[in-house]
Amino acid sequence: MSAVERDDRQSRERHWQEARDRLDGLPAGGLNIAYEAVDRHVVHGDGDTLAFRFLGEDGPPEDITYRQLSERTSRFANLLADLAVPAGSLVFTLSGRNPDLYVAMLGALKACCGVSPLFSAFGPEPVRQRMAAGHGRVLVTTASAYRQKVAPVRDQLPDLEHVLVIGAGADTLDAPGVHDLAALMERSSKDYEIPRTDPEDIAFVHFTSGTTGMPKGAVHVHAACVAHSATGRSVLDLQRGDIYWCTADPGWVTGTSYGLVAPLTCGVTCIVDEAEFDAVRWYGILEDEHVSVWYTAPTALRMLMKAGPAAHEGSDLGGVRHVCSVGEPLNPEVVLWGQRELGLDIHDTWWQTETGAIMIANVPGLQIRPGSMGRPVAGIEIALMQRDAGGERLRDAEGRLVPVAGFGDEGEIAIRTPWPSLMRAYLGAPDRYASCFADGWYLSGDLARRDEDGYVWFVGRGDDVIKSAGHLIGPFEVESVLMEHPAVAEAGVIGVPDPTVGELVKAFVELKGGFAPSEDLRRDLIALGRRRLGAAVAPRSIEFAAHLPLTQSGKIMRRVLKARELGLLEGDLSTLGSTP
Ligand code: ATP
Ligand code: MG
Repeated sequence: MSAVERDDRQSRERHWQEARDRLDGLPAGGLNIAYEAVDRHVVHGDGDTLAFRFLGEDGPPEDITYRQLSERTSRFANLLADLAVPAGSLVFTLSGRNPDLYVAMLGALKACCGVSPLFSAFGPEPVRQRMAAGHGRVLVTTASAYRQKVAPVRDQLPDLEHVLVIGAGADTLDAPGVHDLAALMERSSKDYEIPRTDPEDIAFVHFTSGTTGMPKGAVHVHAACVAHSATGRSVLDLQRGDIYWCTADPGWVTGTSYGLVAPLTCGVTCIVDEAEFDAVRWYGILEDEHVSVWYTAPTALRMLMKAGPAAHEGSDLGGVRHVCSVGEPLNPEVVLWGQRELGLDIHDTWWQTETGAIMIANVPGLQIRPGSMGRPVAGIEIALMQRDAGGERLRDAEGRLVPVAGFGDEGEIAIRTPWPSLMRAYLGAPDRYASCFADGWYLSGDLARRDEDGYVWFVGRGDDVIKSAGHLIGPFEVESVLMEHPAVAEAGVIGVPDPTVGELVKAFVELKGGFAPSEDLRRDLIALGRRRLGAAVAPRSIEFAAHLPLTQSGKIMRRVLKARELGLLEGDLSTLGSTP
C-alpha cells in the first residue's frame, strides 16, 4: 500500500469514526438503530418534536411525536419478549404504509430482531419466496393481506410462528399463531430498556428490486445507521425543523434507509402518504405540509412531467429547499423540467440495496451537471474497473482488477471496502456474495464514466449494455435523448441480436397524452436519435407501446422488453412488468 493510499484509508476511517461519534450509543453498550432513531431524542429533550405525520387516504392526518414513538415501539419490543421471540429472529412486515408498520419495524429493532419489510403489493409467491429464504418467525400484516397472500402458502412456511394483525379482523382468521396486534400492544408495557446490541447484529434484510433477475436478500446490520445519519445530513441536507418526505415505500430499501432510519436519526419530521401516486395530490402535499426536503424517484418525476403543468397550476413550491432522486437514471430532460417548470434543482443520488446507503451524489452546493449522478460522498472511494470486449472483468497478469486508463472511459463502479452500511451477506447465497468482492473492492455491476472534475455519469447496468459494431452503448443515453422529444413520456432501449453488428439498438416508446403513434413520429424520433447520438448509437427501430413494463418499485425492466423481443414472452407489455 502506498503512502497516499494509507492516508486515504485513514481519512475514510476518520470520517466514519466521526460520524459514529455523533451518535450516542446505547446506555447498555453497543449501537442500536432504534435507540439512535427514537429514544435518543427523548433523552435529549426533543420528545415533543413530531417524528411522523401520516396522511390517510382521507380523514385527518395522524401525528406521532418522538416520545409517543418511543413508547409505542417499546410496547412492540415488550410484546415480542412476551411471545418469547428470541433476539436475532427475523420479523417480516407486509402492509401498506401506516403507523403500526413503522412502529413494528422500530420495535423489532429494539428487541434486537432483524426486520424484513415486504412490499404490500406482492402476491403469495414473492411473499413465500422471501419469507422462506429468511426463515421468518414473525409476520406483521393485515387480515386481508394475510388472507390473500399468506394463507395460500402458509403450509410452506414452517418457521412462521406468530402473525400479528394490524387493524380489525384477527378474529376472522382461522390459522395458528394469529394475534390481534392492538390488543397485545394495549397489554404490553411502554417501558423497555434496549439490551446491549452489537453493531454487527442483523438489523434488516432487504430484497433487491429484481430488475435484472431473481431478487437477492441483502443482510444489513445496526452499524449501517452511521452511514444513514451521515448521508442524511450531507446529501439530503436534513436539519432540525425540516419536514421531510421520502416517497419510497418501506418495502424497498430507500423507504427504510431514507424513509425511516436516516431522517429519524437526524431528528426531523417525516411525512408518510398512505395513498398511491396522484400528481395533483403530490403537489398538494408538497405545499400544504410545508415539505422542505423531498426524496423521490425518476419514475415518479416522469409521471409528474407526464401529468403536465395543469397538475401544479397555482401550487407554491417555494418552501421546498432540497430535492433528491434515486433508483434509476435521472434523465437530463427531467432535471431541466424541474428547473424550468417547478423552479427546483433535482439532485441525483446513486446507491444500491447492497451498499445500504448513498454512495454517489449531487450534494447540496455542488454544481449540478444534468445527467450526472454527482461525486462519491465523504468516506467513500470509488474506481471504475475495466471490462473486456465480452463484458467480463479484466484482470492483469497478477489476476488483479484493472482501473480504466483515463477520463471518459467506461468501467464498472467499484467501491473500496469497508463502510458501515455495506451488506454483510446475501441470504443463503455465500458464493454470490463472495463474487461481489475482489482486491478490497465491492463490485456493483453498474457501468459509468468519470469526467475530469470527478463527476460520475451512469452508462448502464452491466447486463443491459448493448454491444453494437464494436461500440458499447448505454441504453440510458439513448433513452434520455428520446425523452427530449415533446411527445415522449418514457423510453426503454435494448439490443436486438444481429448477425452483422452483434446487436442493433431498438427503442420502446410510451407517448404522452394527446400524442398518437404514427410513421411520421417514428421517423422524427429516429432522426432525433441520429442527430443527437450519431448513426452508430441511434435506435434503428422504434416500437410504440401503451405502457412500458416496470418493476413494482417503478424501474423500467429492459430484460422484459428483451424477452418480448426474442419471442420468450407474449402479451401486453404493461402487464409483463412485475417482480417475480
Ligand atoms: P436487482 O439487483 O435485483 O436486479 P436492482 O439492482 O434494481 O435489482 P436495487 O438495489 O433496488 O435493485 O437498485 C439498485 C440499482 O438501481 C443500481 O445498481 C442502478 O442500476 C440503479 N440505480 C439506482 N440509482 C441510480 C441512479 N441515480 N442512476 C442510475 N441508476 C441508478
Ligand atoms: Mg442490483
